[in-house]
Amino acid sequence: MKILLLGKNGQVGWELQRSLAPLGELIALDRHPVDGLNGDLSDLDALRATIRQVGADIIVNAAAYTAVDKAESEAELAERINAQASQVMAEEAGAQGAWLIHYSTDYVFSGEGTRAWQENDAVAPVNCYGASKLAGEQAIIASGCKHLIFRTSWVYGARGNNFAKTMLRLAKDREILSVIADQIGAPTGADLIADVTAQAIQQVLQRPELSGLYHLAADGEVSWHGYASHVIGFAQDNGEQLAVKAINPIETRSYPTPARRPLNSRLNTRKLRDNFSLHLPDWQSGVTRMLREVLNK
Ligand code: NDP
Repeated sequence: MKILLLGKNGQVGWELQRSLAPLGELIALDRHPVDGLNGDLSDLDALRATIRQVGADIIVNAAAYTAVDKAESEAELAERINAQASQVMAEEAGAQGAWLIHYSTDYVFSGEGTRAWQENDAVAPVNCYGASKLAGEQAIIASGCKHLIFRTSWVYGARGNNFAKTMLRLAKDREILSVIADQIGAPTGADLIADVTAQAIQQVLQRPELSGLYHLAADGEVSWHGYASHVIGFAQDNGEQLAVKAINPIETRSYPTPARRPLNSRLNTRKLRDNFSLHLPDWQSGVTRMLREVLNK
């Protein structure tokens, strides 16, 4: 079995390199051309040619335009990478009879209310990034290709920058931190997403009727403020010397950003758990494991 992975060096892409490796021959690309293959999603013709040349059984798209604030001023580029490139992948997957595995976001929703979003709830993105990701989902579904789309939220990886590392860095220098307390979601490890992806691929190859859209997030819920408090509390309990004395909760409206953020990022994951008989651990277990790695504890 041949697998084409796009976006191999992103948070999720990096973990997919590990989790997909045992499933078959893995051709993993980033945006830089190599051996005549071009994984740059902004070059739609080159992307199409690359997918044809590889002729994979499974295309996994972990690449995306993810700069949420910048997307407000680069809407066209975000649309090309998140929507039009997804459409190209879907058309080619359909023509080749390949599976397309793709990731989307809770930002397709308005963020209103406090109930966890279900897959068939009404969508209403509040920013350009969310709109471009929604268009990508819709193009894949409309194409009729075999697909798995995983909507996830608040992704972190042990590699590169993440919210927890930023909080730890700030807590070393500052006595007071102000962190948003009215956005609620579940921090979800890139490693968990990659492992669930590999499990789901294995199952869907046997049961193609499971093709569809799924919510994938760690269990439980927390605000960014609660998340920061957990991270800093863990570090302090494990002997890290931090300057921070107080973590103040603030409201989203007192921290203006170019892109609006939804307040309710809760995702209902029942469909994924039931259809694939999977257990999704609580967010604390993944975050604690990542912190142990980062802090070497
Ligand atoms: P990252 O930002 O870590 O990775 C995205 C990757 O896409 C990067 O490696 C980036 O490469 C690559 N990329 C960007 N533009 C292009 C391009 N033109 N051609 C090829 N590659 C490109 O994202 P995540 O791993 O966190 O996200 C994975 C998926 O999950 C995405 O679909 C995202 O929308 C979704 N998601 C993410 C959330 C989050 O909190 N991060 C929340 C919800 C959903 P480079 O480094 O070269 O720019």
